[in-house]
Amino acid sequence: MSILVVGSVAFDSVETPFGKADEALGGSATYFSTSASYFSPVKLVAVVGSDFPEEHIEALKGRGIDVTGLQKVAGGKTFRWKGKYEYDLNQAHTLDTQLNVFSNFDPILNDGHKDSPYVFLANIDPDLQLKVLEQVRKPKLVACDTMNFWIEGKPEALRKILRRVDIVIINEGEAREFAGCSSLVKAAKTILKEGPNALIVKRGEYCSLMFIGNSVFSAPAYPLEDICDPTGAGDSFAGGFMGCLASTGDLGE
Ligand code: AMP
Repeated sequence: MSILVVGSVAFDSVETPFGKADEALGGSATYFSTSASYFSPVKLVAVVGSDFPEEHIEALKGRGIDVTGLQKVAGGKTFRWKGKYEYDLNQAHTLDTQLNVFSNFDPILNDGHKDSPYVFLANIDPDLQLKVLEQVRKPKLVACDTMNFWIEGKPEALRKILRRVDIVIINEGEAREFAGCSSLVKAAKTILKEGPNALIVKRGEYCSLMFIGNSVFSAPAYPLEDICDPTGAGDSFAGGFMGCLASTGDLGE
């Protein structure tokens, strides 16, 4: 079954101790869609500017991703993110965020989008996540992600989203920041009280934890020998997770 995703499609400029990339293709929805497309059909809702090359759109289409909901604004500039990692690659440090065409994006979903059974609200402005969610008719499962930029900038809008989703997938720093405490168990309780049924906390190279009611499940991460740039790892994880659920239809714990 198909997954509808809204999130950023971006140019990323990233520096790590091992190298540098300038204006590379990035964005939460880009990574999510690519990863999910290995399991299920994906429909992408996002916006880019006229500086966004056709070859990137062709690459998404090449993975079978439906890009009819990807708007291109004439004369507009694509979202840009600049980030840096130290030797601890689990923690991204944002140097600059330029929303550009996302500042005025007002997505109008078509009938195909509205009937999507699976919805992923990838990391983007929670007001925009809500605009998309309100147009979807009867989703079977809705999950969301976010980050410190929105936790600090739009906490109220984010709470509205948490009330309406089944699953929240965020990293450990974000869970701690949202809940205002360092214990992940306490943070999970605080977040689950906002409304979702399940919380998945990504812990980078260590593991991911799933909290449902009073139960906790831990899945270890597969240790990789060479990692140069972890950008998009969380979005790709969410894509695999949602893609797998949508392909099996099994929503049991
Ligand atoms: P991840 O490494 O999976 O947490 O996500 C990295 C992606 O998030 C990058 O490709 C960025 O373009 C994107 N990103 C960074 N900041 C934001 C933001 N404030 N809103 C939406 N997407 C963002």
